[in-house]
Amino acid sequence: MARTDLRIGDCVASPGDLSFGTFEGVALPTGGNDRLAVVIAQGKRDGPTLWLTANIHGNELAGINALHRLLTLDLCAAMAGTIVAIPSLNPAGLRTNRRHPYWDDRDPNRTFPGRKRGDEEPREPSVYERLAARLLESLRGSADYYVDLHCASIQSVGFSIRDRVLYKDEAERPKMEALSTTLDAMVGAFGFPAVVEFPSKTYIARELHKSTTGAALQELRIPAFTVELGMHSAVDRPLVGACVVGLRNMMRWAGMLAGDPEPIPALPRPPDARVRRREDGPYPPAAGILDYRVEAGAYMKEGGVVATLRDMWGRSVGDGEISVGPDTWIIGIEDGVLAYPGSAIAHVGVIENASLVERWPD
Ligand SMILES: [Zn+2]
Repeated sequence: MARTDLRIGDCVASPGDLSFGTFEGVALPTGGNDRLAVVIAQGKRDGPTLWLTANIHGNELAGINALHRLLTLDLCAAMAGTIVAIPSLNPAGLRTNRRHPYWDDRDPNRTFPGRKRGDEEPREPSVYERLAARLLESLRGSADYYVDLHCASIQSVGFSIRDRVLYKDEAERPKMEALSTTLDAMVGAFGFPAVVEFPSKTYIARELHKSTTGAALQELRIPAFTVELGMHSAVDRPLVGACVVGLRNMMRWAGMLAGDPEPIPALPRPPDARVRRREDGPYPPAAGILDYRVEAGAYMKEGGVVATLRDMWGRSVGDGEISVGPDTWIIGIEDGVLAYPGSAIAHVGVIENASLVERWPD
């Protein structure tokens, strides 16, 4: 499909060129608008439209660098189709290095597809929800594929998160199986180790279907996934480089670039290709001070010790160790040293046997 008339906000695509513009953001009480920078990169040949966004969590920075590095005139000369890039979905959080924008203290990545005034739910849509509604309308009208770039804890590896495809009507299932297959291929072409999202009931309870890529997948049925690029609040530069290579390889898979995939820099990976899902844990049995004994990227057998647990005086709490279940890939350890019951001390990948296409949980 010809995309030469594509316009996002006031940014208008131009074949063979980079275009720069803005998407209207949140109106500021002090005047002006917290508008979003938009870059459109377009090839001279028709092809798919790939949306790339970053920094919806304001302290997650590496994706901004990755998009800036990816989007060049050389890329426009070589590519078919179009990239729509929004390097920061949360400029307020970027300026303050906070996950949430200061004008709406809820997680912006749980506000999609957003709501407009007059929707059925009897409450006012929040500030970010109104922006999310407009963003998703733009995405609906133009995207064939979508990737959103994030960062995780300070000591964490690079990985992709692949949502399950959920459906409500059994008649949808064949199409959803096909969407799931396309999504697997897209995540595979990107080349980072991937984990499946939480089990469906947890996914819904945590409103992950209301994330950027969750809403794109579950509402718009656009193949979409989330990438985690290591630490927040600073930039893991090797992961930025790997991300740029991954995005170009994904463009090759999508027919937007010619040639064989580029080798991706070495990344910590699980020891085999079995499907894994992400999980928070392990959880400490009591409050105390953690002394971590693993690095992000480690692979652990059942009983492997993630951290020891002591009280503030240095005395062991409980049996003094917090350990994992079988076949546990340590994706990241939590920031800091504080343990609270109910607060996971790490983020892990565990073996997943459930289907990746499921009926919407009751
Ligand atoms: Zn994030």
